[in-house]
Amino acid sequence: MHPKPIVFFDEKHVKQRAYRQQYMSNPENREKVNKSRRDHFDPVKNKERQDRWDKAHPGFRKEIKVDWRIAHPGYYTEKKAEWRGRVGLKNSLDTQKWLSEHPGVQEAQTAARNHVDLPEFCEVCPEDDQNKATSRHHPDYTYPLIIVGCCVACHYYLNKERSSQEQKKEKE
Ligand SMILES: [Zn+2]
Repeated sequence: MHPKPIVFFDEKHVKQRAYRQQYMSNPENREKVNKSRRDHFDPVKNKERQDRWDKAHPGFRKEIKVDWRIAHPGYYTEKKAEWRGRVGLKNSLDTQKWLSEHPGVQEAQTAARNHVDLPEFCEVCPEDDQNKATSRHHPDYTYPLIIVGCCVACHYYLNKERSSQEQKKEKE
């Protein structure tokens, strides 16, 4: 249950609200309003409006969040631990399995980490000098010191390509 938010409305707002409710109770009017909302939906403008509102009501959203957390002690910690436990365990088991099937990989990774410096920018990204290089990709693990410096997204893509190629080879 969400706790009741702090209400800023005064008498004028209450009147406006009653009028709006009455107006919207007519299905024709409601459809009109909904249509104009759909037509004018603009994520950028919405974000700007939200920012303006946040500026005019500093701390409001934060307070709601804090209230909610106080009303639900331990919820976030529990959820986080649950998620981490489930996903983390599966990931580490998958990694161990993969490493045991690919001997020499860990040694190659350590050697590259200790002996090869990363370039400043990702060498795989289509745009030059766009994303910082953060990881070392081994095109071939039998050459531990030959690496491609790439960003996280490209590394994920390259590894995915490799595993799909491996799966193809296994099928043949
Ligand atoms: Zn990249």
